[in-house]
Parts: sequence; C-alpha cells; structure tokens
Amino acid sequence: MNNETLLKNLRNVPDFPIPGIQFKDVSTLFKNPKCLKIMVNELYDIYKDKGITKVVGIESRGFVIGAALALKLGAGFVMCRKPGKLPAETLQESYMKEYGKDTIEIHKDAIGENDVVLIHDDLLATGGSMKAAYNLVQQFHPRKTYINFIIELTGEGLNGREVFDPETEISILLKV
Ligand code: AMP
Repeated sequence: MNNETLLKNLRNVPDFPIPGIQFKDVSTLFKNPKCLKIMVNELYDIYKDKGITKVVGIESRGFVIGAALALKLGAGFVMCRKPGKLPAETLQESYMKEYGKDTIEIHKDAIGENDVVLIHDDLLATGGSMKAAYNLVQQFHPRKTYINFIIELTGEGLNGREVFDPETEISILLKV
C-alpha cells in the first residue's frame, strides 16, 4: 500500500468544488503511463485468484481503472451510472448525500447469481456512494462481492469503512 510513485503523482486541488474540500485529482494518475500500470498491476495481484467475473465501475472515475482491470482479470465490465443514462431496464438505489438525495442505476441484466463481483471507485470518503452501489449489486444475489478504491480519505471525522459490514472485503491502494 501507499506506493511512492502514486503518492507523488496524485494532485491535491484545494477548495474544489467548494471551499474547504481538498480534492484528490486522480486524473494525474490516469494520464501517467507508469501510474496507470502500477494501479492495474497492483489490483490484478490482489484479485487475480478471487474468481472475479464482473467488475462494476462507479460513474465516472470508476470506469477507467475498472475497465482496464476487468480486461486483465478476464472479467466483464458493468457501468453503475447516474439516473437516466442507461438505456435499458434498470435497478436503482437512492442514498443520502450531504445536501439531498442521489440515485444510481445498473442494467437489470448486468449481473447474475453466478457472478463474483468487484465494485471499483476512485475514492472512499463517507462511503455513501459505494454503499449504494453495494446494496444495488446485492439485489442480484451474486456469489460474492468485493470492494476496491484507489484512495481512502482519512481524517476530519471521515470513516467511510464503517458503513460496511466488517466482513466485507475492502482493498485500497493509497491512504491519504
Ligand atoms: P463518498 O460517497 O462520500 O464516499 O464519496 C465518494 C465519491 O465522491 C467518489 O466517487 C469520489 O470521486 C468523490 N469524492 C468525494 N470526496 C472527494 C475528494 N476529496 N476528492 C476527490 N473525489 C472525492
């Protein structure tokens, strides 16, 4: 964990999108070929023997590494999207954000009961959006569901992991 090259290349943008937020900008990791390779290879090492059949990426930063990892694992890739973006029938899950409610969707035929699922997103803050994605995936009754983030935010009273059952297997590459 905490690969020096990743840490060194992660950009922090103060006061984005609102004053007081330290925004961790993963675009500086995505654009760097070395970082891209490190992220995908480290995740591949964690999940290569888990029998993952579907990687679910959360819109939109979860699509980048999620799809690359799915390819390397020999798994399929599923998009978890904001409302109104997926064209066919969907299952939905709503969750509370700091201000108001948000909803995410997955296609109804995206996952089956025989799948072993890995849900991926770029960053864990409060855990709200990943918990909603996790609940959504559980509606399909897959064999097992793993969770991964590139970054876990710590401090400032954040404890995103607490929203998950302690038995849920969560991996991260960087703690900042
Ligand atoms: P949460 O649901 O609170 O865990 O928030 C996680 C989602 O919000 C992820 O999809 C992140 O991309 C985004 N996010 C929240 N806080 C930050 C931050 N400080 N820097 C970058 N992205 C963030």
